Amino acid sequence: MTSRIDLHTHSNESDGTDTPLELLSKVVEAGITRFALTDHDSIAGWHQIRGVVPTGIELVLGAEVSCQTIDALSVHMLGFLFNPENAALIDSMNETRVNRITRMERIVGRLQEAGIDISVEDVYAEVSEGATIGRPHLADAMIRKGLVSERGEAFEKFLHNRSKFYIPDASPTPEEAIRLIKEAGGVAVIAHPFASLRGRIISSEYLESLIEAGLDGVEIYHRDHSESERGELLALVRRYGLLVTGGSDYHGHGKVNRLGENLTELSQWEKICERASGYQGGS
Ligand code: AMP
Ligand code: ZN
Ligand code: FE
Ligand code: FE
Repeated sequence: MTSRIDLHTHSNESDGTDTPLELLSKVVEAGITRFALTDHDSIAGWHQIRGVVPTGIELVLGAEVSCQTIDALSVHMLGFLFNPENAALIDSMNETRVNRITRMERIVGRLQEAGIDISVEDVYAEVSEGATIGRPHLADAMIRKGLVSERGEAFEKFLHNRSKFYIPDASPTPEEAIRLIKEAGGVAVIAHPFASLRGRIISSEYLESLIEAGLDGVEIYHRDHSESERGELLALVRRYGLLVTGGSDYHGHGKVNRLGENLTELSQWEKICERASGYQGGS
């Protein structure tokens, strides 16, 4: 069977809309043979479904670790195949999850000051129990209130990174996240680094400094990268011999991204496995 590897998906353990089990059945339907569940700052979904993955499908342990540069730029770091019991990494993600709550209260406060009828309770009502809270939940609350009709509209009007209501989440620096993932035996791949559609992005010089800090790979095949951004990134990974991944960044019905719309080559997956030393079990 040909391999179809999607290394970037979300469940409702963060801001996706499918439960981990629903996601698993959609992965089967989509003919994907291997997928990483990469919820923001959480591996709760992996714990939920690791015991029920059908034969022929492999579930990869992963997380999308929120980071912030010293000049407050948001960066997402994918971690794969780390030790799921590594205290330093798990504690760091837990701390970010707590910080995200205070951050949400502050964003909602700003919206209220601008006269927008929304409360933190409205937002909490959209979050599954124990899940990592994020702006998409606030978008869902705005939909329920009739303020917007879909998540995309909420981001365009109120929640995008250049908006006056935007507050970054208090989280480790990318260098720190790389260190945490690698010390836990995992592989660190920067998610959609040049996705300029999303807002201000890191420079190639800064990306080079992350390579020096131990970055293993770059997620190039992602819908938010333009052709020219892909080209620039490909030149860079060739120069430094980095891994290349692709993934859908599927969020259920919260985003247009379809499962398997971007994939990772088998040879790259094999290199990830060679590098990883943290995760010993099967799926
Ligand atoms: P946060 O983690 O709170 O900073 O929110 C970032 C999340 O919002 C990311 O996971 C994105 O997938 C999601 N997001 C960003 N822009 C949009 C959009 N236009 N429509 C739907 N989701 C979005
Ligand atoms: Zn997300
Ligand atoms: Fe991301
Ligand atoms: Fe993502």
